[in-house]
Order: sequence, then C-alpha cells, then structure tokens
Amino acid sequence: MYIVMLGAPGTGKGTIGKILSQDMNLKHLSTGDIFREQISNQTELGKKAEGYMKQGLLVPDDVTMGMIKARLSEDDVADGAILDGFARTAVQAKALSEFLTEKRPNQSQIAIELNVPDDVIVKRLAGRLTCSNKSCGAIYNLETRPPKEKGICDICGSKLVKRDDDNEETVRKRLVVYHQNSQELLDFYKGNNTLYSVCPKNLDEAVNNIKEHLKGSN
Ligand code: ADP
Ligand code: ZN
Repeated sequence: MYIVMLGAPGTGKGTIGKILSQDMNLKHLSTGDIFREQISNQTELGKKAEGYMKQGLLVPDDVTMGMIKARLSEDDVADGAILDGFARTAVQAKALSEFLTEKRPNQSQIAIELNVPDDVIVKRLAGRLTCSNKSCGAIYNLETRPPKEKGICDICGSKLVKRDDDNEETVRKRLVVYHQNSQELLDFYKGNNTLYSVCPKNLDEAVNNIKEHLKGSN
C-alpha cells in the first residue's frame, strides 16, 4: 500500500507519517528530508533544491519527480511506503499515480489529507524542533510536544535543531504556496476516489481514525 500524506506544512504529515510507518511496517519517505540530506551532502540534486527551499518555494516538478521515481524503484519500498510531502502538485500526483500503477500494479494507492487552520500552523512551526540525527529525525514542539530534556532528543539523545525554513516569514510563504496548489491536488485524489480527510486536533485520535480508514480499504 502506498499512502500519500497531503496537507499544508506543519499539519503533522511527518509526525503522523512516522507513527503509521512504524505501526504498518512501511518505509517513511519524506521528500523534504531527502532534499535536506542532499543539501548537507552538497550533491548536484541538493544544489538544485537549496535555493527554492530557503525561499519556501517548491523545488521544480522535474527535479522532484526524477528524485522520487528513482527512490520508489528501490526494493525496500516495493510493498508500499508512506509518502510525506509528495505529491504536492497535481502534476506530481498524476505522474506518481501513473508510475505506481505501472511499476507496482498490485499495490493500492491512498491519499490522506490533514486539515489544520493556518493560524494554528504558524504557531506550531515557530516552535518546532527536529532531531539533528538524520536516521532518527524525531519531531518535537516546544508547546505541544516538548522533549523531556531541553534541546535533546528523547529517542536517540542527539541535539535538537530548528529548521532553516521554520521562521514565520518562510512559513507564511510555504502556506501561500500550499494553498496555490492544494485545490487541484485534492481534486485529483477526490476524482479517483482515494481521498480521506481528517482534522487532526490531537495526534492519537488522528492516527486512530486513519488506521480505521486504512483497514477498511485494504
Ligand atoms: P513542510 O511540509 O513542513 O514544508 P518538508 O520537509 O516536507 O516540510 O518540505 C520542505 C521544502 O522541501 C518545501 O518547502 C519544498 O521547497 C521542498 N519540497 C519538499 N517536497 C517537495 C515536493 N514534493 N515538490 C517540490 N518541493 C518539495
Ligand atoms: Zn533523535
């Protein structure tokens, strides 16, 4: 099963995606994480993505598509994956759907939308901290999900850092970009009847709702 997590930045795609990934034993693939890793390794792909990400803009579709198709062709995701941050445009969604239908014809494709008001998101992202250990990547929030020890990851003990693009100005830009693309994107998944929407007021409830829904669509 391939699960596409949709929703504005800061709606909990990463946090919820990681919980589902563990519970369902599916790999969690975040395009944002892959780009950040490429940037820190200064690869060609990283160099292409960096400027866009710093400004809160989307990396162009052709760059993103090439990267995700290569990743989805690997064996560890042959039985499915949780896609966090991909697709973000209708062009990406269509290309993804065609790619998976051809390459993994026996796997279902499901889209989950996390719907959270923008003002809640802005507050949330300003307080977000991420584990600096790339293989952990746990996400915390100073207000709603603080680490036990200040600045330290509960899970692996690494330092917590604030992402470059988690400042109010860039967050607002990312929200504008999201809303520019979201209607067409959601319409695509509504059109093929694979969209399930939740308003995740609290994490556990959202995860349980989604799991119930996925059981029914297996
Ligand atoms: P968030 O969802 O909180 O914005 P991500 O880590 O998913 O965080 O994405 C960070 C940035 O990475 C985006 O603002 C964008 O520049 C780039 N990015 C991630 N996924 C995509 C994608 N599917 N298409 C284009 N750009 C992307
Ligand atoms: Zn950690």
